[in-house]
Amino acid sequence: MSTRSQQLPELGQDSGREYRLGIMGGTFDPIHYGHLVTAEQAREALNLDLVLFMPAGSPAFKQDRTVTSPEDRYAMTVLATAANPAFYASRFEIDRPGVTYTVDTLKALRAHYPANVRLYFITGADAILDIVSWHDAASIASLATLIAATRPGYDIEQAQARIARSGIHFDVRYIQIPALAISSTNIRDRVRLGKSARYLTSESVIGYMHKNGLYRMPVPEG
Ligand code: ATP
Ligand code: MG
Repeated sequence: MSTRSQQLPELGQDSGREYRLGIMGGTFDPIHYGHLVTAEQAREALNLDLVLFMPAGSPAFKQDRTVTSPEDRYAMTVLATAANPAFYASRFEIDRPGVTYTVDTLKALRAHYPANVRLYFITGADAILDIVSWHDAASIASLATLIAATRPGYDIEQAQARIARSGIHFDVRYIQIPALAISSTNIRDRVRLGKSARYLTSESVIGYMHKNGLYRMPVPEG
C-alpha cells in the first residue's frame, strides 16, 4: 500500500524562511555509494534541508533493457537511505504510470510545495553533459537550480560550453566529490558473475539483492 506520505514529505511549513529541497533522481538499479555520497555532499555544500531520492518508474532513457521492478528498486532505496535523517525515499515517480520525465516531476513538486521551498536537482557529471537535450530543458532550467557533481580533475568546460550553446539559462552549481567510479551497471555485472558487490553499496542493499535473487544469471531452461 502506498500512501501520500510515502510520496512527498512535508516541507516549507514556516513561511518566514526559505527551505531547500534536493532531488536525486535515478533508476537506482541498484542504489550505491556513488549516489549516496553525491547526495550527502550536495546537501552539505548547498545547505539542503532534505534530499528526495526518487527511483524512476519507467526511466525515459532505459527502454532498451529490462529494469528491475519499481518495488525492488524502491525497497533498496529505502534501505540505503534509512539512517540519514535528511534523506527521504519517495514513491512519487514509481506511483505514476508511464515514462518519467524530470520536467514533469519538477512541475509537480513546484505545484505541491509553497513558494518558500526552492528546488535543487542533483545530477552526476555524465547527466549534466546531456541536460540540454532532455525533454523541455528550458522548463527544467526555470524550475530548479542544478547541482552537478563532478570528480576532482573532471573537465567541466565541455558541459559549460554545451549549456552556453543551448541559449538556455541554467543555474548550475558544480561540486567536486571524491572519485567514485561505482555504477549500478558494474554492480549488476558483478552479481551476475557471482562476484562480490560488498562495499560498493550498503550491507542492507547487498542483503536485499541476494535474498530476492536480483541480477542473478537466469537459469537456462530445460
Ligand atoms: P547505470 O549504470 O544503470 O546507468 P548509474 O550508476 O549510472 O546506473 P543511475 O541510477 O543511472 O545510476 O544514476 C542516477 C544519478 O546518479 C545520475 O544523475 C548519475 O549521474 C548519478 N551517478 C551515478 N553514479 C554516480 C557516481 N558514482 N558518482 C556520482 N554520481 C553518480
Ligand atoms: Mg547511469
